[in-house]
Amino acid sequence: MRSYKIAIIGAGPSGYFAAQALQNLQSDELSFTIDMIERLPTPWGLVRSGVAPDHPKIKTVSKVFEKIATTTGFNLYGNIELGRDISIEVLKEKYDAVVLATGSALGKKLGIAGEDLPGSISAAEFVPWYNGHPDAVTLTPNLDCETAVVIGAGNVAMDVARMLALEPSELDATDTAIHAIDALRNSKIRKVVISARRGPEFAAFTSPELRDLPKLEHTNVLMQPADIAAALDRAGAEPEKEVRNNLEAMRLISELEQGKHERTMEFQFLCTPKEFRGDGKVEEVVFTTSSGEEKVIKTGLIITAIGYEADPLTGIPYEKGKVLNSDGYVSENLYVVGWAKRGPSGVIGTNKSDAADVMNLLLSNMKEPKPAVELATLVASDKVITQSHWESINAAEIAAGEPHGKPRIKAVSREELLRLGGL
Ligand code: NAP
Repeated sequence: MRSYKIAIIGAGPSGYFAAQALQNLQSDELSFTIDMIERLPTPWGLVRSGVAPDHPKIKTVSKVFEKIATTTGFNLYGNIELGRDISIEVLKEKYDAVVLATGSALGKKLGIAGEDLPGSISAAEFVPWYNGHPDAVTLTPNLDCETAVVIGAGNVAMDVARMLALEPSELDATDTAIHAIDALRNSKIRKVVISARRGPEFAAFTSPELRDLPKLEHTNVLMQPADIAAALDRAGAEPEKEVRNNLEAMRLISELEQGKHERTMEFQFLCTPKEFRGDGKVEEVVFTTSSGEEKVIKTGLIITAIGYEADPLTGIPYEKGKVLNSDGYVSENLYVVGWAKRGPSGVIGTNKSDAADVMNLLLSNMKEPKPAVELATLVASDKVITQSHWESINAAEIAAGEPHGKPRIKAVSREELLRLGGL
């Protein structure tokens, strides 16, 4: 019987799917002890801090994560920060293999004038804010203006725009952070412009998300029929399936009856952001249109949702916002999965097959197992969140939400999370 010790760094979807892949490889001759190390006192990564709270179905994958976590040989070690509580070198030395599943936490920058003015933020800050991520609670997005502009034509831009354009009472039955619901309830924003630099045929939205938009009960969703007709022309007779489905969903949106509601989400295409302007804060955004003209929108809040890159860890090689790797292999006994490996693309399920491929590679490179290791003896912290601590936090949050008809009320500070965990 060979028994290997694997450290997985990061308790998001790609980390759990890597653990599941290892569990699936086990046999009478092969077993794994999996220690999952997480910086936050809570696991689930983007399923807790990224997925839009008005899309609860996507979060049901957390049931799969909990099944993985309660399988023999799996240990959660939350509230442990790499570099502070333990080093990557020690992990590489003590474990048979180390798997990075640290995602892409930083928002990409446009690199244009005015981008750093107050009032300009990244989805990488705004999304964790409304989802109650402990590092984002102090954000104060300017909701004191009539129009907000979201830059980018992907699903994150759409999530952000929806959260800004929803009637706030629609968030009552969700696990949106209470501070965000309160702020959104007082929001003066009534129009949210989603701005794409290319035409509708190149938008990165996926069609299920587009098809959900007409179901919004209190928000007008505006697309110009001429924009969609021109895109259909450009796409030709036989566009790829995704493009065809997207354009069909957009055509239906463009034909919606307009102006019924107080709140509006409006799509503009073929507008490249040129400059954010304002006196000490964002007051307007300037775009260049496809015909080379300037288009100016007055706004006090611009959210860029143009993709992510990895937040570099000391001692790990990075290139173009990802860990430098070859099919998930980094060096020696170090591997990488998920967005840290591929970049920020794909849905949660994409990580399953991706992690399975990397774990097969990991197994094929394995040599003699190293001696057993006890992570608790290696870390310089007495506030480690184990699976049972997390289960206490989880149960407390769910119980707090129950009388309010919410799936949970999230604790948003590290101190409160540790307290709920019994530490
Ligand atoms: P994304 O899908 O890659 O979209 C990024 C958008 O930003 C693209 O429209 C891109 O336009 C635009 N962009 C990039 N650089 C730009 C620039 N300099 N100026 C203007 N626009 C720029 O990324 P994402 O929205 O962050 O989503 C990440 C992944 O998570 C995606 O795979 C997404 O589907 C997934 N996700 C899924 C869901 C869901 O299933 N409900 C929800 C959220 C996220 P170009 O195409 O012109 O480069």
